[in-house]
Amino acid sequence: MAIEEVREFVEKEVGRWSNEIDRRNLIPEQLLREMASLGLFGLTIPKEYGGKGISVNGFLEVLELVSKECPSIAHVIFLHSMAYDILLKFGSDGLKERYLPEIATGRRILALPFTEPKSGTDLAAVELKATREGDFYVLNGVKTLATNGIYAGLFVVLARTREQEGHKGLTLFLVEKEDGVASTEPLDLMSSRGAGVSILKFENVRVHKNRIIGSEGKGFILAVKGLALGRVPFSSIAIGIAKCALEEAVKWSLKRKSFGRPIFENQAISFPLAEIAAELEAVRALRDELGTRIERGDIPVAEASMVKLLSSELAVKATRLAIQVMGGWGLSSSVKVSRLYRDAKALEIAEGTSEAQKMIIARQLLKKYKR
Ligand SMILES: Cc1cc2nc3c(=O)[nH]c(=O)nc-3n(C[C@H](O)[C@H](O)[C@H](O)COP(=O)(O)OP(=O)(O)OC[C@H]3O[C@@H](n4cnc5c(N)ncnc54)[C@H](O)[C@@H]3O)c2cc1C
Repeated sequence: MAIEEVREFVEKEVGRWSNEIDRRNLIPEQLLREMASLGLFGLTIPKEYGGKGISVNGFLEVLELVSKECPSIAHVIFLHSMAYDILLKFGSDGLKERYLPEIATGRRILALPFTEPKSGTDLAAVELKATREGDFYVLNGVKTLATNGIYAGLFVVLARTREQEGHKGLTLFLVEKEDGVASTEPLDLMSSRGAGVSILKFENVRVHKNRIIGSEGKGFILAVKGLALGRVPFSSIAIGIAKCALEEAVKWSLKRKSFGRPIFENQAISFPLAEIAAELEAVRALRDELGTRIERGDIPVAEASMVKLLSSELAVKATRLAIQVMGGWGLSSSVKVSRLYRDAKALEIAEGTSEAQKMIIARQLLKKYKR
C-alpha cells in the first residue's frame, strides 16, 4: 500500500467529512466502506490472511496522517488493530484462520471492551462473569466506554472465569455480535465523537470454549501486553493532532497582524511554537524507535507508556496553544483546532490515563534501582 494512496483518501474524503462526523457523532457507512476497500482495517495483518502486511512504522505513519484530519477515524482504525493484534499474537491458528480474513477486509470491525462501570485503571477488578456450562461459557455483565462499540461485529472481551482470584481469574474471549452482544447508542462525549464509543451489554451470551484467546486465567497478562503494544500506535494519533495544531498555529500567526506586523514576530508567540516543534520531533523519534523494536518482536512496556504519556500531553499543550494563538477565532467550532483540542484531551485518559502510565514507568524505576 502506498502512503500516497492514504494521503489522497485523507485529503479528499476524511477532510470533507470530519466536521460532520464530529457533529453527528457517527462515521457514515459509505465512508466505513471506503476505508475497508482501501485496506485500512487490515493494515498490519499478514497478506496470507488477506491483510496489507505493512510494517509497524508504516502503520504509525498512516495513523498520524489520518489523525491530522480526523482523530476519531484514526481511533477506530487503531482500536480495531490493537484488538486483532491480540488475536494475531496470542490466538489459536483455528481462530486466526476463521476470523482474520473477515477482520482484514473490514467485514467485521473489532471492539476491545475491557473497561467496566466499576473497573477502569484497576483492570484486575473486572467483574463481567463467564460461567462454564459444558463446552460453553455464559457471559453476563456490562462494559463501558468501548470504542467501536456501535460498529463492531466482533469483540475481544476480558471476563471473569474465577471468583476471588484477582487478575488470575480473568480470561479473554472472542465474541461475535450474533452471540447476543447489545450496544447502546454512542455516548455523547465531548471527544472522540464518531469513534462509536458505547456501553455494551452481555446477557446470557454463550461462547464456545474454542473462542478463548490464549488460555483460561491468562486474560489479564495478555490484555496488559496488548495494551502496551497499542500505546505506541496510539501515540501516533496524538502526534498527528500536535503536528496539525502546530501547522495551523504557525500559518495563522504569519498571516494575522497586530500593531502592524505578523503576530509570529513576537517571541511570546514564536517561542512556545518552537518548543512544541522541538518536543514533537523528540516524541516522534521515540515513537519510531519503539515501532522498530515492536517490528522485531519486542514488547517495550515502560517505554510504550513513556511515549503515550508524552505524546498525549503534547497534543493537549499544542492544541491549547494553537487556540491561544488564534485568539477568539480559535474557539469557533468551525476551526479545526477547537475540535482537535477536545480530541486531544481524551488521549490523556483512553488507553490508560497519564497517571496509569506513570505507575507503569515508576514500577520499572523500582525494578531497576531498588537494591
Ligand atoms: C475516548 C475513549 C475511548 C475509550 N475506549 C475504550 C475501549 O475501547 N476499551 C476499553 O476497555 N476502555 C476504553 N476507554 C476507557 C479508558 O480505558 C478508561 O477511561 C481509563 O482506563 C480510565 O478508567 P476510568 O475512566 O474508569 O477512571 P478511573 O480508573 O476511575 O480513574 C479515575 C482517575 O483516578 C486516577 N487513578 C486511578 N487509580 C489511581 C492510582 N492508583 N494512582 C493515581 N491515580 C489513579 C486515574 O488516573 C483517573 O485520573 C476509553 C476511554 C475514552 C475516554
